[in-house]
Amino acid sequence: MRCTIVGAGVSGLTTAIRLLENGHEVEIISDKFSPETVSDVAAAIWYPFLVKPADRADTWGIETYKVLERMCTEAPESGVRMRDGREYLRDITNLPPWNEDIAAFRVLEGHEIPPGYVFGWEFRAPVIEMPKYMPWLKNKVEALGGVLERGYIEDLTSLDGDLVVNCVGLGARELCGDLDVKPARGQIIFIDQDPGIGHFDQQPETLTYTIPRSDVTVLGGTAQLDDWSLDIRDEDNDLILKKVEAIWPELDRDRIIGGTVGLRPSRTEVRLEEEDIEGVRVIHNYGHGGAGVTLSWGCADEVVSIAEEG
Ligand SMILES: Cc1cc2nc3c(=O)[nH]c(=O)nc-3n(C[C@H](O)[C@H](O)[C@H](O)COP(=O)(O)OP(=O)(O)OC[C@H]3O[C@@H](n4cnc5c(N)ncnc54)[C@H](O)[C@@H]3O)c2cc1C
Repeated sequence: MRCTIVGAGVSGLTTAIRLLENGHEVEIISDKFSPETVSDVAAAIWYPFLVKPADRADTWGIETYKVLERMCTEAPESGVRMRDGREYLRDITNLPPWNEDIAAFRVLEGHEIPPGYVFGWEFRAPVIEMPKYMPWLKNKVEALGGVLERGYIEDLTSLDGDLVVNCVGLGARELCGDLDVKPARGQIIFIDQDPGIGHFDQQPETLTYTIPRSDVTVLGGTAQLDDWSLDIRDEDNDLILKKVEAIWPELDRDRIIGGTVGLRPSRTEVRLEEEDIEGVRVIHNYGHGGAGVTLSWGCADEVVSIAEEG
């Protein structure tokens, strides 16, 4: 099959790799490539966050977890490493449905939970260092014979080939008139200090995280819906630091070395489905919110299944 993928974020690149591995021809057309995409800004840890529908997201997430876990040993240059983290909760809740599918999951003891929280769990998950991972994905697409072309697409029906895969993230507002896709603004801080273990509170209202990469730790966060500003705001930095200090009191503000902002492509639910647009076969794969990296390989596999079923 001759496939054209629109978009070169983590969704487009991962989908390209799976289509190429299954023997299809792939051209990616995108107005931005790494390091300019939202995906390059992702923190990023494997964790199904700010994304629906829950059942499909859990399936895509578990599939992706397995791929990333293998990558740690088979391709360490990809920038994926397994790290332990602790999620803290203000209420006692059910365990996440994927708790038996991931490594080293256990409920925390009372003395391991910081003040203000009542429950929590420890888990081992892939940390994906996007400054290494995105170029690695892009190189892999090219090594498998994929073609990358810079361009802005205004009309999906203008594209050649047997199949178009739409991986434009927030760009779906313009490209498909899908106003259900909205930015969930995320501001992050980089600090040259390792917390040893990641500390998390991943409820959207109180979102707090420390994600240790090999060179820096990423502190977050914010998830401001329908906020398009890419400026770093002092008040958001203050809020992030206060939230992080509540779960990681050893944080040393003198070791902060920078920060950035990105706009997550949030949507009521991920759009992964086939559509016939004026005779052009399109598979949509966008709207992954705060979990585009977490779901990427599972979604890519589903695109290939739909493509080959047709
Ligand atoms: C601060 C922050 C922290 C995050 N942390 C995590 C995390 O820990 N774990 C996790 O799983 N996720 C995380 N995310 C979310 C993750 O970044 C996104 O879900 C993911 O990057 C979405 O990828 P995508 O490929 O769908 O979209 P994008 O990366 O936005 O890529 C879209 C692509 O489409 C192109 N495009 C758009 N419109 C057009 C057009 N009309 N024509 C041509 N090209 C077009 C763009 O140029 C771009 O290349 C985080 C995000 C932020 C901002």
